Amino acid sequence: MKIFDEIESEVQCYARAFPRIFNKAKGEFLYDEEGNQYLDFLAGAGTLNYGHNNPIFKAKLLDYIHQDGITHGLDLHTKAKGEFLEAFNEKILKPRELDYVMQFTGPTGTNAVEAAMKLARNITGRENIISFTNGFHGVSLGSLAATGNSHHRGAAGVSLSGTSRMPYEGYLGDDIDTTVYLDKVLCDSSSGIDKPAAVIVETVQGEGGINACSFEWLRALDAVCKKHEVLLIVDDIQAGCGRTGTYFSFEKAGIKPDIVTLSKSLGGYGLPFAVVLFKPELDQWKPGEHNGTFRGNNFAFVTAKAAIDHYWSDNSFANDVQRKGAYVSQRLEEIVEKYGEGNFTTRGRGMFQGINCVNGEIAGKITKQAFKKGLIIETSGADDHVVKFLCPLVISDENLKKGIDIVEEAIREVCLKEDSIPERKLYFSPEQIAS
Ligand SMILES: *Cc1c(COP(=O)(O)O)cnc(C)c1O
Repeated sequence: MKIFDEIESEVQCYARAFPRIFNKAKGEFLYDEEGNQYLDFLAGAGTLNYGHNNPIFKAKLLDYIHQDGITHGLDLHTKAKGEFLEAFNEKILKPRELDYVMQFTGPTGTNAVEAAMKLARNITGRENIISFTNGFHGVSLGSLAATGNSHHRGAAGVSLSGTSRMPYEGYLGDDIDTTVYLDKVLCDSSSGIDKPAAVIVETVQGEGGINACSFEWLRALDAVCKKHEVLLIVDDIQAGCGRTGTYFSFEKAGIKPDIVTLSKSLGGYGLPFAVVLFKPELDQWKPGEHNGTFRGNNFAFVTAKAAIDHYWSDNSFANDVQRKGAYVSQRLEEIVEKYGEGNFTTRGRGMFQGINCVNGEIAGKITKQAFKKGLIIETSGADDHVVKFLCPLVISDENLKKGIDIVEEAIREVCLKEDSIPERKLYFSPEQIAS
């Protein structure tokens, strides 16, 4: 369609990798205008953990709309908000013995990160925030200052300040515990690193290349923060909501971060929704001090509650994600072994995994080849060198296998350097779909 070239800004990104016009989606599938079916291993960059147009959530949302439920209410108390808070408290917080209050921020992830950093600065009276190499926290100025990627940072146009960077786990090699360095720097009044208000960290760096830190490292980081009375913020926007196999990605580390940000899959249905969770004693906001027109999305309250009720009332969903995650690990290991020639490695945790192809050009060829076979999958990392597996958590075993089979085929073709990439051949032909 010409209109996209005519008036949509050059800033578009995913649309370039998947140049089709999509008009329908269901579960783990997307469909284009011509009726071609694509398996979606991008899933809204981790926003569609429960699949596209999840039928359980859709029914609840349609009911709510039919009944003229509140669509927009600023931060007014609504029945939908109350019911979401109750479900979140009873089924997510209490069983995990987490004592948090919830702040509704503007609807995207970066809004939650901005609020978390502002709160930490106001409470401690300190400006500096420590973030990590390859971290990604959003592209509004405060979050961007905590983000590593130079492509994103370069667009800021003003100096990005108020943060210091520390090496993430593994950044200096496997034998160096980078929390020891952080501790050293914070002990040394002459290190040149100002005492921070907070440390912000992802337990699995999504945009940064699916780097999963170990739980030991996370515990050590928590201990360093406590020792120096620095707040620990876990940015669980992409890794949370079950992606790694538990609701919060830090659960198995046994830590209780001071502040947690959630967004992406929180709303369940792909609706914009973001929150900050923090320990009650940190709730030092004055009324209205941080605001926004779209704080809390009532449609998302309805679908978020449905997601919690349906998937998080017991452990069966988490167990299933862990089972599928183990399958993904095993398959990716095999693929790397077979075709990686000692260069490729696997990375990640749960259903948040990737293949590090080292070279961004090869990773790009693989995802391009996969798309020709009907699979939507993206790369991440500093050089876009990691093929990132982010399919919906609710995917069937059969389609999970299919998706990985496609990547394997694509890797085989790219790595065997078949110069002539075959004609575009969809994995699912329209005939197959119709039947
Ligand atoms: C996506 C993401 C953000 C930013 O969320 P937006 O909705 O794009 O503003 C922040 N932190 C992490 C870890 C993310 O993955």
